[in-house]
Amino acid sequence: MQSSDIKVQLIEESKISQVDFNNLPFGSVFSDHMLECDYKDGKWQTPVIKPYSPITLDPSAKIFHYGQSIFEGMKAYKDAEGSTLLFRPLENCKRLNKSAERMVIPQIPEDIFMTGLKKLLEIDNNWIPTKEGSSLYIRPFMFASGNGFHASPANAFKLLICTAPSGAYFAGKVKVLIEEKYARAANGGVGFAKAGGNYAAQFYPTQLAIEKGYNQVIWTDDNTHEYIEEAGAMNIFIRINDTLITSPTSDRILDGITRKSIIQIAKDSGIDVEVRKITVSEVIAAAQSGSLKEMFGAGTAAVISPIAGFGYQEKDYDLPELENPLALQLKKQITDIQTNKAEDPYGWRV
Ligand code: PMP
Repeated sequence: MQSSDIKVQLIEESKISQVDFNNLPFGSVFSDHMLECDYKDGKWQTPVIKPYSPITLDPSAKIFHYGQSIFEGMKAYKDAEGSTLLFRPLENCKRLNKSAERMVIPQIPEDIFMTGLKKLLEIDNNWIPTKEGSSLYIRPFMFASGNGFHASPANAFKLLICTAPSGAYFAGKVKVLIEEKYARAANGGVGFAKAGGNYAAQFYPTQLAIEKGYNQVIWTDDNTHEYIEEAGAMNIFIRINDTLITSPTSDRILDGITRKSIIQIAKDSGIDVEVRKITVSEVIAAAQSGSLKEMFGAGTAAVISPIAGFGYQEKDYDLPELENPLALQLKKQITDIQTNKAEDPYGWRV
C-alpha cells in the first residue's frame, strides 16, 4: 500500500489553538485527525484519515459483549531539527498482531500500520510537542465491530489510530502494594496480550490498594503469589546491590518494549542484569539487609517510574534515596536515544 492510496478528509478548522502545550495532561487532549481502517469481507480495506470524532457502532457489536479488543501504546517525538521520531514502531505492530492472534482478531499487515501511522503523523505534525519531556502519545487499537449476540468471534473489525499530545509524565513518589490475593494474568490466559479486559480486571484490586494509601499494585503470580511479575501496567526492575533483576516474560507478563530496551542498554553499560524469577521473600530479605537499592517500573508512558516504597502483609518498606540511581541514569540513556540527543547504536529510532 502506498501513502497516496490513503483517503484523507481534513478537518475544517484545526483545534490546535485551543490547546495549552505548556500544560498538557496525559492522554486526554486529542489531535485533529485519526486513522480508521475496516476489516470486512475477509480483508483489511484501505485506511482513511479523517477528523477525530465519535464512531457509531451497532448495540450488538461484539466489542461491547465479549471484549474482543486490543491496543498498543507508543510515542512520537520531535528532535532539535524538527524531525519526527518513533521508537521501535515495528515492535508495537508485531505485538499488536501477537495480541490479535490470541483474541481472534485478523492480523493487520505491517505495511498498512506503518504507512498509515506515518501519514497520520505527517498530517498532524504540528501536534507533536517539542517541549522537553513531552511527546505525542499514539494509541492504535483494534476491536470487534461486527454484530450479533452469539458468543463467537466477529466477522468485522476496526483499527483506529488516535494521538494525544502529552506532557512529561511525572508519577512522583510511587508507593506500591505487593498483591497477595488478586492476579492480573494466569498461565494459558491473555496476560501477554494487550487485551482491553486485562486492564479492566486490574482496576478493582488497584482501587483497593489506593484506598489503603498506595498508588499501584505489584502483581504476583496467580498460583502462589510468591513471584514478582509486573508493576501496574509496567514491567518491573529490582536492583539488589549492583544487580538489576527483571522477571522473564511468559504467558502472564507483557513483553514490554521499554523493558527489553533497558535490558540491552544496561548490559551494554556494564551493568549486571539478570532476567530471572524473583520472589517476594527475596525482596523482603534484601530490604531488611539493606541490599535492596532500587525498584522501578518500565513502560512507554512514564519510561521509568521509580518506586519509593512498598507494602506487604500489612508492613511498609522504604527504599533508600540514592544520589545517582540507576533508574534515572537508564531513563536518560533511553530518552536520549528516543529524542536524538545520543547515538542510536541499535537502530531503534525511526
Ligand atoms: N506491562 C503491561 C501490563 C503494560 O500494559 C505495559 C504498557 N504497554 C508494559 C508492561 C510496558 O510495555 P511497553 O514498554 O512496551 O510500553
